[in-house]
This record gives sequence, C-alpha cells and structure tokens, in this order.
Amino acid sequence: MNAPDSSQTPLAAALPHPERLFPTLTPQQMSRLTAHGRRRQTIRGEMLVDVGDRIVPFYVVVSGEIQVLRPSEGGETLIVGHRAGQFTGESNMISGRRSIARLRVSEPGEVFELKREQLLDLVQTDAELSEILMRSFILRRLEMIAHDLGDVVVIGSAHSAGTLRVKEFLTRNGHPFHYVDLDRDQEAQELLDRFHVSVLDVPVLICRGDAVLRNPTNAQIADCLGFNEDIDQTRVSDLVIVGAGPAGLAAAVYGASEGLDVLVLESNVPGGQAGSSSRIENYLGFPTGISGLELTGRAYTQALKFGARVMVAKGATSLSCDGQRYTVEIDGGPPIRTRAVIIATGAEYRKPALENLSAFEGAGVHYGATPMEAQLCIDQEVAVVGGGNSAGQAAVFLAQTASRVYMLCRGDGLADTMSRYLIRRIEESSKIVLRMRTQIVALNGNGQLERIGWRDDRTGEVETHDIRRVFMMTGAIPNTRWLAGCVALDEKEFVKTGPDLSQDDLAAAGWPLTRPPYLLETSRPGIFAVGDVRCGNIKRVASAVGEGSIAVAFAHQVLHQ
Ligand SMILES: Cc1cc2nc3c(=O)[nH]c(=O)nc-3n(C[C@H](O)[C@H](O)[C@H](O)COP(=O)(O)OP(=O)(O)OC[C@H]3O[C@@H](n4cnc5c(N)ncnc54)[C@H](O)[C@@H]3O)c2cc1C
Repeated sequence: MNAPDSSQTPLAAALPHPERLFPTLTPQQMSRLTAHGRRRQTIRGEMLVDVGDRIVPFYVVVSGEIQVLRPSEGGETLIVGHRAGQFTGESNMISGRRSIARLRVSEPGEVFELKREQLLDLVQTDAELSEILMRSFILRRLEMIAHDLGDVVVIGSAHSAGTLRVKEFLTRNGHPFHYVDLDRDQEAQELLDRFHVSVLDVPVLICRGDAVLRNPTNAQIADCLGFNEDIDQTRVSDLVIVGAGPAGLAAAVYGASEGLDVLVLESNVPGGQAGSSSRIENYLGFPTGISGLELTGRAYTQALKFGARVMVAKGATSLSCDGQRYTVEIDGGPPIRTRAVIIATGAEYRKPALENLSAFEGAGVHYGATPMEAQLCIDQEVAVVGGGNSAGQAAVFLAQTASRVYMLCRGDGLADTMSRYLIRRIEESSKIVLRMRTQIVALNGNGQLERIGWRDDRTGEVETHDIRRVFMMTGAIPNTRWLAGCVALDEKEFVKTGPDLSQDDLAAAGWPLTRPPYLLETSRPGIFAVGDVRCGNIKRVASAVGEGSIAVAFAHQVLHQ
C-alpha cells in the first residue's frame, strides 16, 4: 500500500471547529499524564495502530507527528496529523471496540502512551482532561459518521425492511458506514458483482472490506464488527443490568461510577424506546428538547466512560434465581453470573397495523396523554384508540382541552374492559364521541399527521377526518417472558416490587429474609426492577432514569449485607 504523499491535504482541514476536534493540551495538562502512562520514543514509519486492531493505546504527542489514515483503494487517505500537545483516539477508546483508523508516525519524536484502562482511569479522575478528551472523541466519531469513514458498506434498498433495520442498528450503535442504494447508486451493481451477491440478498453488509453478510441479524453484525469481544463474560459481576433503555443506562452510570463491576445486556441497541423518539421535550434540563438518539447516545458513552461493560444484540433468555448468586442465560453465549440483577427490559406498546405509523410517532401519534400533550390539543378534534382504562382516562382528560374526542374501540362495549366510573364520565361528556366496532385504518400527512381514516366494522364504511392528534392507548406488553416464574408479576405480567408485593407473593417466592423487600426490589433479594417493565411505573424517560439511579443505592445495600 502506498503511503499518502506529503502534499495531500488532510480531510480534517475542511472540518468546522478544529480546535474542538483536535485540541492542543497545555504543558500543565500534559504533565498530569505522567501519572497514568509512559513516555516513549517513536521512529519514522512506525505503525502504532492498524485498522481492525483490538488493542488500541492512546497517544499524546510530545514531539514529532502521528498521522491518522484510512486505507483506501490503491493507497491511504490522510485524515489528520497530530503534532505536539495533540492526541489520538475517538469513541472506540472508550467503548474498547476495534480501531477503524490507522496511526503511523510520520515524524519521529516522543509520545505519552496510555493503555485503554489507564485512559479510563484518567477520564474518571481528572474532570478537566475528561471534558476535553470525551468531547473530542465524540465529535471525531460524529465526523467519521458524517463522512462515511467506517469499515462497513451496506448495500440495500429503501423498499426493504431489513435495510432499515441494519442501518438503524449501525446508526444507534454509532458505527460509521457507507450506504449504497440499489435503486439510486451506480456503484451498486459493481459491488454486487465484486462480492458475488445478488439483489435478492439485500441488505448486504460488507464488514471490514472482506466478510460478506447477507441479510444479517443484528447479532451477526455485532459479532462481525466485534462489538462484544472485549467483554469477559466469565467473571462474576457485582451487578448485571438487563436492558439498556434509559432505566438500564441510568443504573449503569450510577453503578459503574460508584465502583460496582457492572455488565449490561441489551438484546438490540442501547437507547430502548426513548432512542427511537424523534424529540423528547419534557426531560429535565433540555428546554428546547433533545432527540432520543442523542440523549441515550450520551448516556451510553457516559456508562462506558465509568467502566460499565455493555453487550449489544445479546438478550437475556432466562434468569435462574436459586442460590445466592444469580445466573442470566443469554443468546449464544456462556451463562452470566452475578451477585445482583436490575431488570430494565421495558415494555412494547401494542400498535395497530398501520403501514406508516412510525413516520407519525411524535408527529401526531402519541402513546401517552399528559398535560403536555393536552396543551397541543386545545380546541382541536382528537382521537383516542382503545377501550381499556388507559384509553378511558385519556379521553376524559383530553376532553378538558380538546373540542371533541373520538374514542375508537374495536369491541362491542366497554363494560368488560373499562371501570364503571370512567364509562359514566364518558357517557356524561358532551365532547366525547364513542365509536364502537371501529378501527383506525389510515394516517395521512406531510411530515405531520393531518388526517386519519377509520372503518366501522359493521358496515365496512370508512370515514376520513381532519384530525392531527391520535392517542394509541391500546396497552403495553412488558418484556418479562424471559423471567418465567423467577419473580412475582402482576396480572398484566409487569414486575411487582417493594410495597406492591403481597405476603402471598413473598411466601410463594420463598422470600428468605426478615426485612421486607426494598422499594424497587422484586420478590427475590438482590433482584430489582426499574422503568417501564415495573408494575405501577409512570412511563416516562425521567421516571425510568430516576428508578434506575435509585435501584443502585439498594443494590449497594444488598451487596454489603
Ligand atoms: C415513540 C415514543 C416516544 C416517546 N416519547 C417520550 C417523551 O417524549 N417523553 C417521555 O418522558 N417518554 C417518552 N416515551 C416513553 C419512554 O421512551 C419510556 O418510558 C422509556 O423509554 C422507558 O425506559 P426503560 O428503560 O424502562 O425501557 P425501554 O426504553 O423500553 O428499554 C428497554 C430495553 O430493554 C431491552 N430488552 C428487552 N428485552 C430484553 C432482554 N430479554 N434482554 C436484554 N435486553 C432486553 C430493549 O431492547 C430496550 O432497549 C416515548 C416512547 C415511545 C415509544
């Protein structure tokens, strides 16, 4: 491979805010590195790190220059040259994932070299350096994503659901990739021919230039890119957190930052439901709102910074809770042993089968009716879908501000599914129009919901209304199947905790202690449940985060008993 010629302009030269991406440490800041790493000489042409390397040290240049390069067809592309006071690395320094860049010494000199563990120690203990390093690592990764500077090519089509899934998995894992659209990009056919794949195989993922994955599962992508390979699954953890939505990530941040050995298991990608929310407007501290991806992406990085180990595309399949230690079985891996467990597997909203539903989530389609949503409905006509208590409560509540509330229920009557007091309030409200045996069948609009259609199942007639807000109140199903018989659940299969546990629940589970369960503790000592999966939880990002943080305090108490 040819080295870049010296006249090559680094890609980074065109980037905005180079001082934030490539800051220069002061001599005082550099002197603090001595306590964490070693100082050593470099020689011209020395390869410090190559693409795909698992062990990636962190370098701060004392003198000389280190170039950051991407191998490209027929040569190398120069991304940036680091000189005295500047440092190497991007987000994978924190996540421990393989390198997607090459580092070579272009001018000999001297460097500080830190192992990843030493770097983690540094960012956990030196607030000033932590801010500088973490910010530039994250910004560098964002630029790599924006410029497709990754080791993955995805060949797909906008018409394939698999393509959407693969792109979402890579995006929510913060992994840069180059996307080639079969229907639009001329290079598509050439790539298909070169890798001996056909249109029928899409989405195709080319991993590190050679491995070809045809319509891969998320777990296969994670394996190919080595997302989990740095994690020792055999050691007994202090705390295993199952689920990396806001509740699980909050528990991971607090647990790891307070010195616990934390392992997080996530069946899909970190972020949970919140990660798919286009804009969260009601989370404390973000007056202009924040995208779910950004909020949970930051939380994920924060958990890694404090040393939590996070396995992605590795779901828990069962929990065995006999004995003093607990064992979590996972998809395709050894059993995970732990002294305490936090269940944070969330819930899935039942969703009507509407083709374009996801396009309007947060843009007219809501899954909760709070005062915030009610403000959006002032003097408007809205629709509530569902016939249970949550739908009834939403209709009565929204009728306070909306001009009319259509309640669309599939069943024949409400008596079997809704409390009597709610039925009476609905009947007494002049603003609520009840439509039984009726299903929502269409959502229309340009970016924002503008119109909906519903069908009367008795006549087959479809009506269209200019309604811009629909509340899907058809219930949520907790992700508790994997717990089978281990902890007490309520009648809807949400996990019961603390004061919700009856004496019968505790007797059935064989509660062995004289003390009652702690606030978020389940019917087994040392197993906690937080967030949407917990019975009685208020389904909000803030409550999930709050519960995840609080549970760690109780986990400490159990671990010290
Ligand atoms: C479209 C949408 C918009 C929303 N907007 C808002 C909003 O604006 N404001 C607000 O406060 N709330 C909002 N919510 C609600 C909020 O997102 C949830 O209350 C919150 O995400 C719950 O967090 P959680 O961590 O308990 O569960 P989840 O977010 O559901 O996370 C659970 C995680 O566990 C993983 N998991 C499941 N089973 C397993 C298993 N067996 N092993 C390992 N991992 C597993 C899942 O993949 C998931 O990542 C919204 C929800 C949706 C769907």
